[in-house]
Amino acid sequence: MSTKLKDWTVLSMLEWGTEYFKERGIPDPRLSIEWLLAETLQVKRLDLYLKFDRPLSQTELDNIRPLVKRRAKHEPLQYILGYTEFMNAHITVSPEVLIPRIETEQLVEILLDDHPSDEGSEEKKVIDIGTGSGCIPIALKMERPDWQVDALDISKEAIRIARENAENNEVDVNFISGNILQWKELPLEGSYDIIISNPPYVLPEEKEELEEQVVRHEPSLALFCDNLEKMYGSVIRFSEKYLQDQGMLYLEVHEKYGEQIQQLFDDTRWETSLLKDYDKKPRFIIAKLA
Ligand code: GLN
Repeated sequence: MSTKLKDWTVLSMLEWGTEYFKERGIPDPRLSIEWLLAETLQVKRLDLYLKFDRPLSQTELDNIRPLVKRRAKHEPLQYILGYTEFMNAHITVSPEVLIPRIETEQLVEILLDDHPSDEGSEEKKVIDIGTGSGCIPIALKMERPDWQVDALDISKEAIRIARENAENNEVDVNFISGNILQWKELPLEGSYDIIISNPPYVLPEEKEELEEQVVRHEPSLALFCDNLEKMYGSVIRFSEKYLQDQGMLYLEVHEKYGEQIQQLFDDTRWETSLLKDYDKKPRFIIAKLA
């Protein structure tokens, strides 16, 4: 923002910010400035347009300036705002956790559609493997309060944030610290009706295919995996041990490797299908244990 004399208004800031971000190759330039301005003025994003000729005070300009600078350095909007939305949940995010994606919302919706709330009275027991911000178990618990929901992550920092998120959304989730690659050593009891996982699935050599804002700011631990067979193989073997008969496993996968990962299932024990996301990319493996 230049210091030259100019009477800034909501509208001129929206226009200036859009151009400024566009010139720097920032994804979603208009949305970015809308969110940052809405945050600064503490109004809803769409309400900005109801007051587009409202002048901005010096304090408001001072407040938005550092936010604009951060976004111009490709920092994801959600880390700048400190939160995002996932289904009905308000989820705090920081660089220790992956920003929840809309594809993952779709996976949760598929799971919920498969298990409507009026489906018999027995409560289900579910575990999310590699929970990160806790978005999946929190959304599940908000939609199906009777279920017992566990969530596992290797990152202690992620578990801390996920716990805070569960508390803020007023749901009870049992968080467990542990490494799925060493699933035989996990301190778990009983069995599950449903297992869900969005593990890290980007191969390190495919880093270039990710957006700069993802690579520079999101946690490598949540994104990259150098051995997909081992990662998904562990989730599948874990599920064979801990799932009830007829139990269901819901997996998010890289669009390129769905079929390869499907091959890791023993088809005498599992029935699997590979479903597409809203972008028509093969993204979800839904598997039923025979
Ligand atoms: N879908 C994410 C991305 O492409 C990656 C998430 C993951 O590795 N599980 O940025």
